[in-house]
Amino acid sequence: MTSPACVVGVDLGGTKLLAGVVDARLNVHHRTQRTIAGLGQAALLDAVADAVTEVGDLSGIEPSAAGFGIPALIDRRTGTAAACVHLPLEGVAFGDLMAERLDLPCVVDNDANMAALAEHRFGAARGVAHAIVLTIGTGIGSGLILNGALYRGAIGAGGELGHMVVDADGPLCQGACPNRGCLEAVASGSALVREARREASSLPASALGQVLSAGREVSGPMVTELAHDGDVAAQRAIARIGSQLGAGLSSIANIFNPELIVIGGGVIAAGELLLTPAREELERRALAPNAELVRVVPAQFGAEAGMLGAATLAREELG
Ligand SMILES: [Zn+2]
Repeated sequence: MTSPACVVGVDLGGTKLLAGVVDARLNVHHRTQRTIAGLGQAALLDAVADAVTEVGDLSGIEPSAAGFGIPALIDRRTGTAAACVHLPLEGVAFGDLMAERLDLPCVVDNDANMAALAEHRFGAARGVAHAIVLTIGTGIGSGLILNGALYRGAIGAGGELGHMVVDADGPLCQGACPNRGCLEAVASGSALVREARREASSLPASALGQVLSAGREVSGPMVTELAHDGDVAAQRAIARIGSQLGAGLSSIANIFNPELIVIGGGVIAAGELLLTPAREELERRALAPNAELVRVVPAQFGAEAGMLGAATLAREELG
């Protein structure tokens, strides 16, 4: 069965990929997930191409195009991945290569842009002309919707709000970023683990303190679970990164004057434990008209946001 309304969306994360056949109403007809951690470039490209072929075959639908969200800065002049921290894709003309291998029109963009597109077209930012979408996981990705369209900067490498400095003498940033005190360095899932270990040391009798003294590994999801169960140390760690996040949001509010800031990614599992201190800090720091206008809300889409956005881009640009 050929369905021009169906396209393939693929989200490439640092450790796994998610692919699905998606129709115009955002229904996913078949999806697959693969572990790609540690793969070399050739094996990685094979895994991506196989996943696209598999979801097409098993859904019984012949897709009309494919969209890919990859964790890289994309130079839109050449279509190549200009910088890619977690996967061996630097310098690869990813979209052209996949189009040739799959004999299918293909489009590629930054993964956080794809999550923002999904939230804008179908999710928490639907109908909003000026919205900023932050995806907070191990790092912080962001997508800018300005005047109803994705804003990518001069060559496509813009909108990296995770690398906005909020503490000039703060901790070193991650990956290839040479900076200190970026929002990502103080308000990401990695920062949450660092703050949690600090709180656990100062409150050894807390549940978090006992985890640390038992030699167990502290992870973001575990801290979030303990915080929801009422552990004070875990709640303090989340409140700390929430207020750091709010400092960054105040700059975002002042620079873009958005109506909405959407927070997604794994860290949003903390919900109001994260968002309340973030909103309070934003209100303390942003200029009055910007602080009064902007709303800060959780994302509608979870782990599938990037895949759904990649499919949306393929439909809008190629479908
Ligand atoms: Zn940085």
